[in-house]
Amino acid sequence: MLNSLQFLPGVGPKKAELLRSELGMETFGDLLYYFPYRYIDRSRFYKVMEVDENLPYIQIRGRFSRFALTGSKARQRLTAVFTDDSGNIQVLWFKGLKWIADTYANGNEYVLFGKPVRYGSQITMVHPEIEELARWENKMGKDLTPMYNTSEKMKNIGLNSKSIQRLAENVLKLCYADISETLPSYITSKYQLMPLREALREMHFPSNNEQLTRAQYRFKFEELFYIQLKIIRLKQLRKERSEGYIFTRDRDKLVRECFYKNIPFKLTGAQTRVLQEIRHFFASGRQMNVLLQGDVGSGKTLVALLSMLIAVDNGFQTCIMVPTEILARQHYASFCKYLEGLEVQVALLTGSTKAADRRVIYEEISSGKLNILIGTHALIEDTVNFKNLGYVVIDEQHRFGVAQRAALWEKASLNPHILVMTATPIPRTLAMTLYGDLDVCVIDEMPPGRKPIITRHANDSKRLRVFGWMEKIIAQGKQVYVVYPLIEESETLDYKTLEDGVEGISRAFPPPQYGIAVVHGRMKPADKEYSMRWFASGGAHILIATTVIEVGVDVPNATMMVIESAERFGLSQLHQLRGRVGRGADQSYCILMTADRISENAMQRIEAMVETNDGFTLAETDMRLRGPGDIEGTRQSGFDLNLRVANLARDGQLLIYVRQIAEAILDDDCDLKKPENSLLIKQLNKMKDHSFEWRKIS
Ligand code: ADP
Ligand code: MG
Repeated sequence: MLNSLQFLPGVGPKKAELLRSELGMETFGDLLYYFPYRYIDRSRFYKVMEVDENLPYIQIRGRFSRFALTGSKARQRLTAVFTDDSGNIQVLWFKGLKWIADTYANGNEYVLFGKPVRYGSQITMVHPEIEELARWENKMGKDLTPMYNTSEKMKNIGLNSKSIQRLAENVLKLCYADISETLPSYITSKYQLMPLREALREMHFPSNNEQLTRAQYRFKFEELFYIQLKIIRLKQLRKERSEGYIFTRDRDKLVRECFYKNIPFKLTGAQTRVLQEIRHFFASGRQMNVLLQGDVGSGKTLVALLSMLIAVDNGFQTCIMVPTEILARQHYASFCKYLEGLEVQVALLTGSTKAADRRVIYEEISSGKLNILIGTHALIEDTVNFKNLGYVVIDEQHRFGVAQRAALWEKASLNPHILVMTATPIPRTLAMTLYGDLDVCVIDEMPPGRKPIITRHANDSKRLRVFGWMEKIIAQGKQVYVVYPLIEESETLDYKTLEDGVEGISRAFPPPQYGIAVVHGRMKPADKEYSMRWFASGGAHILIATTVIEVGVDVPNATMMVIESAERFGLSQLHQLRGRVGRGADQSYCILMTADRISENAMQRIEAMVETNDGFTLAETDMRLRGPGDIEGTRQSGFDLNLRVANLARDGQLLIYVRQIAEAILDDDCDLKKPENSLLIKQLNKMKDHSFEWRKIS
């Protein structure tokens, strides 16, 4: 299996080189594991009546009728009705409209191949592959034809999908007998998994749908199983090995004092429970690694602060690292408020801290005088040397790279306890994979008295009505955020849009009657801070901002948010933004402004936002819409979710299932020393390590 592809019949040096440079394939084994991205099922025709959006790519046969052009001139589309003896389905095109209508409106019988989707209320095929029935019948080959991804370069020298399949055939012919099983036999038999050899052959030469599904299931199972086995084992090993500072439970002076003096409300049940869980970790003698999940506004910051006070009570220093300067200042301000009258030294350290102040802070950090440090990346510069850092909180985790966290790590003699707080909830399956080796605490309850935010979708033609609504809110003494997207690729244009927006709003809300504050990335930190303060203090009625306000900003008197070009934001970003309102007891509103026509996908995001305020639900929707690889935080986390066959959005049940299996195996044989588990160890050692490396530091 490790033979070089160059020696495979049908390859030769030139093709071998392209396979390597284009697809990273070097060995026979690489080729065998290069699976088709889909299969064309020529074995059956679906009846139109049976077709729904849950089906994969399928084939139907029938005739076109009722071609119709719809939409505005700029965004024209063509629809047609496709009919067989069971019923009708809609077909939709965006491109080549005239040619399509001319070519297919002849009453002949056609074969369509495509993925049915739901478009509005109709089951639709969008731009299907079309072939005349007569020609299709001549062409018929195997029932299930695998389709492999290949590049243009490869196609140019004849390495197309078909020839990849032929190469796979050659490998199978040469090495079938040498393919050795990668799962212990007790697992394959207990869970009725197809043997590896057979499964590999089925992937490239499926006998029928059922066998193919079994082969795919085997690979999904194996893939998810080994990831979970690895993660759970890492977690166990870390727990065994990593000694941690012990914060005894009885020293609770500061927490109690803080409550007594400065906190006017009771913790929610979930906050209390999570704090209790954290205390438990602190007292365990093991280093804590917790991921704290909680929806926007669920009160994570306060939990962080109180847990930090436990560290301080135990004589340790602690710090909280946040992604933006604005957020650092905000945390600093609220920490100061919560800590008023307590003997706790707090400092703020960011990129714009002046050199003189900086020196004082450094000195206080290394002498141990300072108890709590709040800051941005500046926290992890070499010049920052804690006397005894015992606990690190990382807020809005996904903004930080791996290396940055590693730097924090090295500043203590023992590894400090770590609490990572997510900005928005992550789907359960993703959390189990990305953070499967961390302990997870969840705040699943909102502070009492919050009214759900009312979210509405409005397009540009309703702008005046939206202005009217803003006016009403302001007349009630409340404040309004207006948020503009700012995307790197189109930055200049986006700033222009923002400027136009500022102008428009200034005309509708003229000063001095109205105060309009503006915050964006091109402003100096001092100006930003001035604007933020003006708004936070209630002086400005409207804050026009780019997404800098996305994380953490807390102005309870702001009860309305207007998000411009909302179709350009991702779902978790929209949810995060919306979380800036609804922070007080008053009814809050979120208006999602979009262009008149937006993509289907964008429409689904907007609809999801209008429908629910629940971040956990939205996270699941987001993953479904975008696929797990694109979920915010995945790429930034440094974790390569390079799943070959499994899909976290679709295979969630299987993931949970195999995790339990992996857990049971490790419970029974934690070092995998039993002979029947030797293959597991071997496979684990083969897994690429780099994808998990960041875990060493958290
Ligand atoms: P997030 O989880 O998004 O970081 P925050 O910690 O910023 O949320 O909390 C949101 C708001 O809720 C803050 O204004 C905070 O003071 C308030 N808050 C937190 N806990 C409670 C509670 N138990 N009861 C009432 N208000 C609370
Ligand atoms: Mg927060």
